[in-house]
Amino acid sequence: KELILNIKDLKVEYRTEDGVVKAVNGLDLEIEKGKTHGLVGETGAGKTTTALSVLDLIQSPPGVIVDGIIELEGKNIRGLKDKEMEKIRGNDVSMIFQDPMTSLNPVMTIEDQIAEVIEYHESGGYKEAIKKTHEMLTLVGLPPKRGKEYPHQFSGGMKQRVVIAMALACRPKLLIADEPTTALDVTIQAQVLTLMKNLRNQYDTSMLMITHDLGIIAEICDKVSVIYAGRIIEHGNLVDIFDNTRHPYTEGLFNSLPNLKDRKAKLKPIKGLMPDPTDLPTGCPFHPRCDYAMDICSKAYPEKQYRNDQHFVECHLYNDDNIEKGGLIKRG
Ligand code: SF4
Repeated sequence: KELILNIKDLKVEYRTEDGVVKAVNGLDLEIEKGKTHGLVGETGAGKTTTALSVLDLIQSPPGVIVDGIIELEGKNIRGLKDKEMEKIRGNDVSMIFQDPMTSLNPVMTIEDQIAEVIEYHESGGYKEAIKKTHEMLTLVGLPPKRGKEYPHQFSGGMKQRVVIAMALACRPKLLIADEPTTALDVTIQAQVLTLMKNLRNQYDTSMLMITHDLGIIAEICDKVSVIYAGRIIEHGNLVDIFDNTRHPYTEGLFNSLPNLKDRKAKLKPIKGLMPDPTDLPTGCPFHPRCDYAMDICSKAYPEKQYRNDQHFVECHLYNDDNIEKGGLIKRG
């Protein structure tokens, strides 16, 4: 398999007055070229910190990347000089945020903003950049003449389309989308997702889709990594994760969803809250919330157990001696 992004043993902390927030704790993530990879978990699990680390956008202080390797197409990009990193952002990796205004300038016309990005990365000059801008606006379903308007004249869904156009304007190798539809209402959400799906197919862009919503994962992703307390605790393709769920936390995410097929009867929120990241529980960090917790769970962190060549889970239920007992969550 050819990887666009390979993150190994990433550790990120925020050193605050209240203590050291361990946001990412030895995270491994492999994103294959041309695939859409979903990163799913609750708020505070470390999703955004992971994405910001890739782009070297962790605010420092208080944030520090303590350890780990981040490879883009096999080349380590962690710790590059600002100038080199700037080239990677936009040229190779683009990011779409939940709030489109994070990326838009309120006092610049839409077309000038997109053109500016194109001009920065390409040598064709302003006229050529505006021509390309109009093509991009059409591509995301906006009439080019509206490019003369300002962000406040656009609805939330339209603004997010503009941001997508901007993110794709330089044909990035990897697009990171951090909850890109969360701020939109359901109908617009569906439209934006369809748009992203079409653009991905058209451009063959690899994508990291960050979300708390398994419905979005089902809609758009090929691979899924479930994140909890800054680590990937289960990973696989859609069938592995949706039909052969193994980790109690992944199961909890499904059970807390009201509207996924066949799961209606089991609607049940995950008990308890995400652990305090300044004081993570010992052993498996999910143990205070887990219905299946055993003695060992509070003592030792579970090793990765592979269920097939790609589907892995970090949970003591699948240790050799426990699997004999039937590994309590056995589906599919
Ligand atoms: Fe639950 Fe133990 Fe598995 Fe953690 S390791 S998810 S506490 S069973």
